[in-house]
Amino acid sequence: MEKEHRKLVIIGAGPAGLSAAIYAARAELKPLLFTGMVLYGQASVTETIENYPGFPNGIGGNDLGQTFQEQAERFGAEIEYSQVECLDLSVRPFEISTFGKVVTADTIILATGADNRKLGVPGEVEFTGQGVSYCATCDGWFYKGKDIHVVGGGDSALEEAIFLTRYANSVTIIHRRDTLRAGALLERRARSDPKISFIWNTVVKEIKGEEKVNSVVIEDLNTHETKSIHSDGVFIFIGHTPNSELFADQLALAEDGTVLVDKTYQTSVKGVFAAGEICDPLFRQVVTSAGMGAAAAISAVRCLEEMECNRP
Ligand code: NAP
Repeated sequence: MEKEHRKLVIIGAGPAGLSAAIYAARAELKPLLFTGMVLYGQASVTETIENYPGFPNGIGGNDLGQTFQEQAERFGAEIEYSQVECLDLSVRPFEISTFGKVVTADTIILATGADNRKLGVPGEVEFTGQGVSYCATCDGWFYKGKDIHVVGGGDSALEEAIFLTRYANSVTIIHRRDTLRAGALLERRARSDPKISFIWNTVVKEIKGEEKVNSVVIEDLNTHETKSIHSDGVFIFIGHTPNSELFADQLALAEDGTVLVDKTYQTSVKGVFAAGEICDPLFRQVVTSAGMGAAAAISAVRCLEEMECNRP
């Protein structure tokens, strides 16, 4: 099997991983970055990012990801479009296995991000792609003139609900409380949109349909009454779960599954750093993830210079 050695391997191609690649490449580490399945992470499915500094008119998430990638490659980062199958953090150098290849590395930056949290109700899995979606940018177009539901009360739910009004006849937000978690600006925009309405203190119990979704069963949490309402589609935005399966049993995690890091972004394993949503349950912004990626790369460079990383 092919085997090669790197000073630094980065896992994940979202804002954190690519930003780490820019910094590490400029420090001449020639980092190798494995993209995994989703290039540019969650940013890739964000229609417009309006709060990333330097883009006063906003920029598409995919376009921003491309600029990160171009910048990293310009300085010598190597980007490989493959999935890491297995990681061994108990040996030095560390071992990273992808399909048909093993790479050893003195340092690693984990930037595997987070995935959409699932509701876990009957019908959710069965109708995914047939009326259940986690991505308005990807699937909104299929709901032209339809009556759809958005589940959640955070920034994602509201941002995506507003986006879906481009296509849908009506967008009803189902939220389990009577106040929103989302910021004031998004709340104002959503509340003033004539296509958007809210069902408060309510949860989805089941998603039903034949070939496609045609109704949702909801429960009023105050009265415990359940009823079935017509729906052409259910978009679920109820937060995220960190993608830590690959290394969950090899380093310290918080209760929510995020990787624990110190102030230099080093994990509980010396020489292994983490950045972005894999270690951040609080901020989850493109700009904060990019900042963490840069910081983790600087720490990896220092660690390599001090030659401390090679010792367990
Ligand atoms: P979030 O802030 O964690 O909100 C998740 C929402 O889903 C909450 O309203 C929560 O209800 C609800 N929820 C969670 N589990 C549920 C369940 N099992 N059933 C029903 N509802 C459930 O997640 P997010 O909206 O994805 O945002 C994540 C982070 O990204 C936040 O820090 C946010 O500010 C940021 N973000 C920012 C922007 C922006 O700046 N434009 C855009 C998107 C996201 P409760 O409120 O009752 O807990």
